[in-house]
Amino acid sequence: MKENKILMQYFEWYLRPENKLWNKAIANAQYLSAIGITDVWFPPAYKGAGGKYDVGYSAYDLYDLGEFDQKGSIETKYGTKEEYINAIKKLHENGIRVYADIVLNHKIGADEPETVYASEEEQTNRNVDTSLPKKITAWTVYNFKGRNNKYSDFKWNYNHFNGTDWDESGRKNGVFRFSGKKWDQNVDAENGNYDYLMGADIDYNNPEVVEEIKKWGKWYVETTNIDGLRLDAVKHIKSGFMAEFIHEMRKIKKLDCVGEYWNRNLQSLENYITKTNSSIPLFDVPLHYNFYNASKDPNYDMSKILEHTLVKENPCKAVTFVDNHDTQPGQALQSFVENWFKPIAYSIILLRNDGYPCVFYGDYYGISHDDIKPMNDLKTLIQIRKEKSYGMQHDYLDNNNYIGWTQEGDDKHIKSGIAVVISTAGDGYKRMYVGNQNAGEIYIDALDNCQEEITIEEDGCANFNVKEKSVSIW
Ligand code: CA
Repeated sequence: MKENKILMQYFEWYLRPENKLWNKAIANAQYLSAIGITDVWFPPAYKGAGGKYDVGYSAYDLYDLGEFDQKGSIETKYGTKEEYINAIKKLHENGIRVYADIVLNHKIGADEPETVYASEEEQTNRNVDTSLPKKITAWTVYNFKGRNNKYSDFKWNYNHFNGTDWDESGRKNGVFRFSGKKWDQNVDAENGNYDYLMGADIDYNNPEVVEEIKKWGKWYVETTNIDGLRLDAVKHIKSGFMAEFIHEMRKIKKLDCVGEYWNRNLQSLENYITKTNSSIPLFDVPLHYNFYNASKDPNYDMSKILEHTLVKENPCKAVTFVDNHDTQPGQALQSFVENWFKPIAYSIILLRNDGYPCVFYGDYYGISHDDIKPMNDLKTLIQIRKEKSYGMQHDYLDNNNYIGWTQEGDDKHIKSGIAVVISTAGDGYKRMYVGNQNAGEIYIDALDNCQEEITIEEDGCANFNVKEKSVSIW
């Protein structure tokens, strides 16, 4: 029997090392499986520049999964290598697949600086030099002494990078392009060329780099037995390399993947999907911003909630989400969907046929750092997706403030089929069709926002009620 898939992003930004995430996953594997989680996305598992306080995106040593005494500790923020591997194993035993988060755009936390010639670039147009080549002191030497050549003896230096943002001798911030280097092409067009994001930017025109990263990828997949890859910052990495990398990795194992292409413009996402031969689905960033805007604006036209989104235009390539570790309060892309709207947004990603939904840890468990409580009803919505959200779908996305849809259910899932109705204004109702075969059936609101029972009429329709600014799942 085919069950609906649900991915859970199993971290938020402010977890603490003492939370021991890998061990928490081991303890909760059975629970996650029971509520309906089929896939888990783990944070970057290797040593970052900040050691055990690094969320993981300041990638230092990709081969150090909490095994070597580097950056002040053996373990990463989430635990040791052994705990990581055990967590993956435990999730596998419970039928859950695991995604690894991999950061291939940059390195941070070099062991030593070196003298390099570089031109400074205009911040908002990286195709324009604002200085002639001059000597700078760049943090680009990576020896990984603590690892002592285990797994790889590759040493990084400025030849393997395109540029950086800090001149140590001049104590100066900027975007510095190393002499003789060009920014990678086929990256996002923002700022003229958005190859450079942060740290020491990895040069994918250098064949030594390409070879080493592929070697690492093979080692990683074989060492961890991971099932999927969440690819960080893909808009800053030349698309040709990512497609080639994924192709190589899939020779080792049938891997799923999802790319983080952070751009709210649908066309940019579609271009990337085309350039990577449809091999890399993407997070539906435009949908996130629709949710965010709708949660902030009482006049938002809900009939347009799916307009200009990946899930509408290219549903097979859309990983839908409401919020993540970057959009949560205090983070780089802060755009946290308002609390009242969260059940509405989650019902849209979880209870419709299209898209592959990703549930955020911070919504499920809360974010204690900001005193944000776990979201009401999220567990119920996940369970409804698992058990009831099947069958032919009928849309009623036809009003500024009141929208809904139904799913007729199917034979394979007992008492499946739902009617979802959303209000962003006052109390209301929508008349919707749930299938002639359901005539006479009694529907109740699984979220208990409405207490009455609704009997489906002979024509397979009924008036489904909703309370102000809420969602009811009948
Ligand atoms: Ca780059």
